Amino acid sequence: MIKVRHLKKVFRTPQGEDLTVLSDINCDIAKGEVVSIIGPSGTGKSTLLRCLNRLEEPTSGSIEVDGTDILDRSTDISRIRRRMGMVFQNFNLFEHLTVLDNVTLCPMTLLGKSRAEAEHRGMELLEAVGLHDKAGNLPRELSGGQKQRVAIARCLAMEPEIILFDEPTSALDPTMVSEVLAVIRHLASQGMTMCIVSHEMQFVRDVSTRILFLYDGVVYEEGTPEQIFDNPQKPVTKAFINRIRTFEARLENRRFDLYGLFGKIHTFCTKYGVVGQTLDKVQHVTEEMLCGIMPFNGAVTVRAEYSEKTSVLSLTFTEEKPDGPILKTLDEESLSLLMVKGMSRSVTESQEGSVCVEI
Ligand code: ADP
Ligand code: MG
Repeated sequence: MIKVRHLKKVFRTPQGEDLTVLSDINCDIAKGEVVSIIGPSGTGKSTLLRCLNRLEEPTSGSIEVDGTDILDRSTDISRIRRRMGMVFQNFNLFEHLTVLDNVTLCPMTLLGKSRAEAEHRGMELLEAVGLHDKAGNLPRELSGGQKQRVAIARCLAMEPEIILFDEPTSALDPTMVSEVLAVIRHLASQGMTMCIVSHEMQFVRDVSTRILFLYDGVVYEEGTPEQIFDNPQKPVTKAFINRIRTFEARLENRRFDLYGLFGKIHTFCTKYGVVGQTLDKVQHVTEEMLCGIMPFNGAVTVRAEYSEKTSVLSLTFTEEKPDGPILKTLDEESLSLLMVKGMSRSVTESQEGSVCVEI
């Protein structure tokens, strides 16, 4: 249904520099598919969606919708847009119109439906999203979750062939996220073709037929929910899926500021909810490593990686000019210091001059 080839989008910054957000996007969306686009903030997910219905003018490449190149000058873009609904983060409802009028306006003006016809369908759609009794209310009288459900009903009223969702729940109170996701799930179960940008990972996993991981201006990795969530292949996808947070510090020599380092590690850990015993262990292991075990023939880098998904924290200590493998040269005593009292799950030599301690 949608075929994107070599799509490129370059923005001109206020400073007059070129910012390439999408460098070479290739993807297809078939009828009945639910394709989710995930990736770190600022990677161009919104830009890609906006290019699909030309709310944003692509710099080059092609986008075909059912065989029609929508970037061609002769294409009637408003006709194409009518077939693609879009639901935005902040609802974009007409604040001065009632809920029902929000839903009926476009079908009357753009599809030429009579008021009676539009209202009849509008009420059906409001019922479908659970807001039948709010038809006469103004948007400001609704909660965020209700507003977004109206926005979805308004979109459906245009009988789109595909709906593009750009972070439909990210402006909502956590308590209202699920009511909106439930509506989208229902649409998916009815076979609606959708392209969804969302940070709700469990939802994305459940609802999608295919997932695109956008990174560095390209579709960096693509696959089924199982492939992307259970068995991501590329390093950035892995880090994103496991929500890996990292901290790194470089210590020039043995006379580094240990307490300054503890302070920074402490800040990193508490930011991600690593507290109590684990935090004590982190401090203990760091001290054992840096004040006893690391040879310090060159500078030493301390890297902490914390997976918010698995709650595993690992510390890696790397010597810049390795004097040979560290672990092998260690005596029983130093090793047992590290493993002492269940301080760590494992201690491994990840590469020459680099010791990784899992806590
Ligand atoms: P995402 O939705 O993945 O968070 P966006 O598509 O919103 O990312 O933005 C990608 C990048 O493009 C960001 O660095 C953003 O600042 C930049 N950008 C988006 N829109 C514009 C614009 N109209 N002019 C200049 N830069 C923009
Ligand atoms: Mg965005």
